[in-house]
Amino acid sequence: MLNQIMRMSKIYAPTLKEDPVDAEIASHKLLLRAAMIRKVAAGVYNFLPLGFAVLQRVEDIIREEMQAIGSQEIRMSALQPAELWHESGRWNDYGPELMRLVDRNQHGFCLGPTHEELITSLVRDELRSYKELPKSLFQIQVKFRDEIRPRFGLLRAKEFVMKDAYSFHPDQASLQEHYDEMGRAYGRICDRTGLDYRPVAADSGQIGGKTSVEYMALAEAGEAAIVFCECGYAADVEAATATIKPLVHDVPEIDKISTPGVGSIASLSEFLGIPEAATVKALIGKGADEQIVAIFVPGDHDLNNIKICHLIPGFDFLTDDELVEAGLHKGSIGPVGLPEGIKVLADESLKSVAKWVCGANEDGFHYVGAKLGADFQVDEWADLCNVFAGDFCPECGKPLDEARGIEVSQIFQLGTKYSDSMGATYMDEDGVERPFVMGCYGVGVTRTLAAVVEQHNDEHGIIWPVSVAPAEVCVVPLAAGDDIVSPVAEQIATELNAAGLRVAIDDRNERAGVKFNDADLIGWPYQIVVGKRGVNEGIVEIKERATGEKSSIAISEVVAKMVEIVEAEREKYAF
Ligand code: ATP
Ligand code: MG
Repeated sequence: MLNQIMRMSKIYAPTLKEDPVDAEIASHKLLLRAAMIRKVAAGVYNFLPLGFAVLQRVEDIIREEMQAIGSQEIRMSALQPAELWHESGRWNDYGPELMRLVDRNQHGFCLGPTHEELITSLVRDELRSYKELPKSLFQIQVKFRDEIRPRFGLLRAKEFVMKDAYSFHPDQASLQEHYDEMGRAYGRICDRTGLDYRPVAADSGQIGGKTSVEYMALAEAGEAAIVFCECGYAADVEAATATIKPLVHDVPEIDKISTPGVGSIASLSEFLGIPEAATVKALIGKGADEQIVAIFVPGDHDLNNIKICHLIPGFDFLTDDELVEAGLHKGSIGPVGLPEGIKVLADESLKSVAKWVCGANEDGFHYVGAKLGADFQVDEWADLCNVFAGDFCPECGKPLDEARGIEVSQIFQLGTKYSDSMGATYMDEDGVERPFVMGCYGVGVTRTLAAVVEQHNDEHGIIWPVSVAPAEVCVVPLAAGDDIVSPVAEQIATELNAAGLRVAIDDRNERAGVKFNDADLIGWPYQIVVGKRGVNEGIVEIKERATGEKSSIAISEVVAKMVEIVEAEREKYAF
């Protein structure tokens, strides 16, 4: 079936001349201005016809890639019973991002932020035999997360579209095989939607499991930071490991020095005239077990919240009052002479520093040359720091680079986390009950759409790759209703459409300038401009949106030429 020609005279597409005031980044501004989306509330959006057309293109690409690796489409409910979340333990663990509600009979529900619980309960009673495994199921559906800071338009929304897939395996080897296939499919989804991306090692966050990769669309507006190396290593800074080399400063034997008014690493480094990297920073917190921990990291590094929470469940920093109560002096905390009962934890990198420059546990005093193993002991060493550019690659040792990215998708090996907690088992060949080994895989569909705009735009508007554009070509007659121009434009649009291109025509009774601006703003990959003089001479103009290049061509040749160009372009995104 042929696509319908999109008629700009009919379509609901109220474009905006000015940037909306509350939009900070390109994709947010342009999606609003180009009449793709409209805001309903903070982090909640409607899709208008043009935006919806793009959304459907993105969904179709994802659907094709999922089907190509044998995943089957289903549709689960967005409304999920609280009991299932109690079973997995996530009703408590998920926190305030989970949108909870009760029905009129006081039954608890949530609006699904993800569907591990629901899918596990869907299969646990009816997927029973090893003969039926593996199984991979996916859906494209709206998700709800009560984000603390919904912002940047579709990039961080409270309601958004996700493609989520879940797979069930008899063993790790089978999971690994599908996980690798998914990874390749996710790469193709990025390629086909036109994203410049990087797969990075990731932390598995709220979802659980151990092995995980995120697909990052490289963009300054991205909220994620990644580090990478020319050897191929790349990781989200949340999960990155690196070799950190603190500066080993040549200091004498232990010496307690008066440091009046010094209460931060910056002021200590200035006071002593040494780099921050040569000092040791202290952080004090406690976990769910109430054990107070003094944590030491190189002065120029920060404690990584995710790493510390993995090590100490329920970790939080002590408040100022709790510090006083514990006998600690904020701004001068160090490992020598800590009050009894405080555990000392330090970043592995500090093993290489024999003599520390650190707090003296006394207001207005610091130590230089506090000797590790002699003046103080460390109870536990761990990888604790946020990594940054200049730290060294854990694989090849070269300095790491840094970039910002938008996490468009993520794949996870869940192992038996949900099958264990929710009792989802199958019968193996010997009749033994075993828990499913599971994987889960998510693509932010609406976030992908916004990431494409983030990477493909200029001062005039969006530049859609043909693969996801609302239409591949827009025919722009410069005098609508004109007896000469209109029939030619209509004829070209009809023939392009018959040739299988996705076509729009700006048949509005508007000035040329308005049409040109809107065409650039909306971002059709190609425009065919049909003007009166040209028609009299038998020519029209093809404009390529990405380069701005215009070329004149005979009316008799334009259809064949356009088809050739678009087909070549499609090829690039089909893979
Ligand atoms: P983030 O770290 O950005 O909050 P996440 O890691 O919590 O995302 P996942 O649970 O991995 O997200 O969800 C799968 C995909 O869903 C993400 O890779 C992302 O593309 C998309 N996504 C997650 N949260 C949002 C959101 N608030 N708005 C739009 N898309 C989102
Ligand atoms: Mg994620």
